[in-house]
Amino acid sequence: MRVIDNLDSVKKVIDEACEASGRNPEEVKIIAVTKYVSIDRAREALEAGIVHLGENRDDGLAQKWEHLGDKPVWHYIGTLQTRKVKNVIDKISYLHSLDRLSLAKEVDKRASGKVNCFIQVNVSGEESKHGLQPGGLLDFVRELQQYSNILVDGLMTMAPYTEDEELLRNCFRELKKLQLAVQELKLDSAPCSELSMGMSNDYRIAVEEGATMVRIGTALVGHELEVQDK
Ligand SMILES: *Cc1c(COP(=O)(O)O)cnc(C)c1O
Repeated sequence: MRVIDNLDSVKKVIDEACEASGRNPEEVKIIAVTKYVSIDRAREALEAGIVHLGENRDDGLAQKWEHLGDKPVWHYIGTLQTRKVKNVIDKISYLHSLDRLSLAKEVDKRASGKVNCFIQVNVSGEESKHGLQPGGLLDFVRELQQYSNILVDGLMTMAPYTEDEELLRNCFRELKKLQLAVQELKLDSAPCSELSMGMSNDYRIAVEEGATMVRIGTALVGHELEVQDK
């Protein structure tokens, strides 16, 4: 399938989800997750009109960067080891996986300006998932104020891999609730206006529940490489 055709289908689903929930489709940005595909396929995504690309490993990002440079807006969506911050920080516009103070400290130190960060929250409680526990979120946001290069642009979550719509919906609703709680703090460092949630198998529900960024790999660009998920 051509990316442009997949993009049409994805946009249609997003339009329908917005229609069903009274939202404006323009509020929803599509991030094409290119971790499973070649540089040529990533380039095809850009030619199809996609602006935002996501990678989840520093080496994958470096490889694509070498060819595509800063043409796309880059999103780092994977778990980030502190020692690898220096490899990615100058290449990305958004970090979706901020989940600990040691990482914030390193990002703050290495960045040459403010970094748009998403705090990754483990709303599903699955042990295999990374992210902050919801109960620790507000204290974490307050503590981040000490790092002047960290801007809490939003929250991110990964829902469980399941067909259970109610379970998915509850996860996304929980993240929306947490977003409102962060906004209530009214901190300049944490406008928290974005919600990064929804992947190939659940983005329709995520959009219905308020996602402003969906991270879509398989359904948009496909899945052609063996990549280790972290
Ligand atoms: C791989 C990945 C995605 C995209 O997954 P698909 O199911 O292929 O759409 C989204 N978010 C994160 C954090 C990922 O690692």
